[in-house]
Amino acid sequence: MSEIRKETLVIVGSGPAAWTAAIYAARADLEPLVYEGSFSRTMIPGGQLMFTTEIENYPGFPEGITGQKMMMDFKEQAERFGTRVITEDIVKVDFTERPFRMWSGAGEEVEASTVIIATGANARWIGLPNEERLAQSGGGVSACAVCDGALPHFRDKVIAVVGGGDSAMEDALYMTKFASEVVVIHRRDELRASRIMQQRAFDNDKIRIAWNTVVTDVLGDDEITALKLQDTVTGEERELDVGGLFVAIGHTPNTAFLSGQLELKDNGYVATPVSWRTVTSVPGVFAAGDVMDDYYRQAVSAAGTGCMAALEAERWLAHGEDGD
Ligand SMILES: Cc1cc2nc3c(=O)[nH]c(=O)nc-3n(C[C@H](O)[C@H](O)[C@H](O)COP(=O)(O)OP(=O)(O)OC[C@H]3O[C@@H](n4cnc5c(N)ncnc54)[C@H](O)[C@@H]3O)c2cc1C
Repeated sequence: MSEIRKETLVIVGSGPAAWTAAIYAARADLEPLVYEGSFSRTMIPGGQLMFTTEIENYPGFPEGITGQKMMMDFKEQAERFGTRVITEDIVKVDFTERPFRMWSGAGEEVEASTVIIATGANARWIGLPNEERLAQSGGGVSACAVCDGALPHFRDKVIAVVGGGDSAMEDALYMTKFASEVVVIHRRDELRASRIMQQRAFDNDKIRIAWNTVVTDVLGDDEITALKLQDTVTGEERELDVGGLFVAIGHTPNTAFLSGQLELKDNGYVATPVSWRTVTSVPGVFAAGDVMDDYYRQAVSAAGTGCMAALEAERWLAHGEDGD
């Protein structure tokens, strides 16, 4: 049987939230251990930004920076101050008593005085091979309009937004600033979005809704040129020429491994019940980044909450439960 690791602070995850928490914690001599996750089809160490091309809205990079370079630099900065990294998932936790216990995908057990959960969320995709190819190559397919919509690529073109909820309406409205027309593609004959968001979309002359419609293929070699669509009622197929596609069908927070050990919100995100804090339902366990943020979902806000979580963990270790 392998020896149980005993740690002061374990950080689970590897996006901007985890590395920022690690930088702060390492500089405060907490010697953090980061489980950065393993490689799978949908997740790789470094988080969501590893699947994007150019980041243009992170302050400090006036020329922009690629997602991969940014995350490698975040990690290098954390390691420079002594952060240790294990390239494994945490697959199970026991937060019922202290020290907290966790198990990695390799079967290793680790005990920690305090834990920061920063496992992020995954954007849901339609699941088409050409969608994935063009999203990864920066060919005009994205799951984040606020992140990518202002890129020159999408200006003055017909842009498709897939989805029928509030996020899809927000993305569609946002894209009307840049696009010549926005076509919302929705598989049903009514939207899930709140009444007010629906009305805003209906009132906008640039937005058209393709009802009862699904995307069956994304066309284009280096860049998206058109979508293959199918009518869900008649089965009829047609093509729509587009210069961009935003998929806005939701996100899945990476919380399955917590299985009942932390309170989650109805939508599966980690609950952080105190406003402007990263404390969770278990004292000593903190959450940062997209795993607890179903609203902003940006690298800079993830990094901000990572900083908060590290400072809160440090103070909690120093002063205990009532030691703010
Ligand atoms: C297409 C796209 C483009 C984007 N572009 C931008 C942009 O230009 N600017 C911007 O600010 N934001 C952008 N975002 C949003 C940004 O990527 C996220 O807000 C940010 O990455 C969230 O960071 P995070 O630290 O919460 O975790 P994530 O980046 O979600 O990373 C968490 C990582 O933790 C690891 N992990 C998960 N589960 C476990 C586990 N059980 N054990 C160990 N490790 C685990 C995985 O590797 C996972 O990917 C984009 C998002 C998408 C989808």
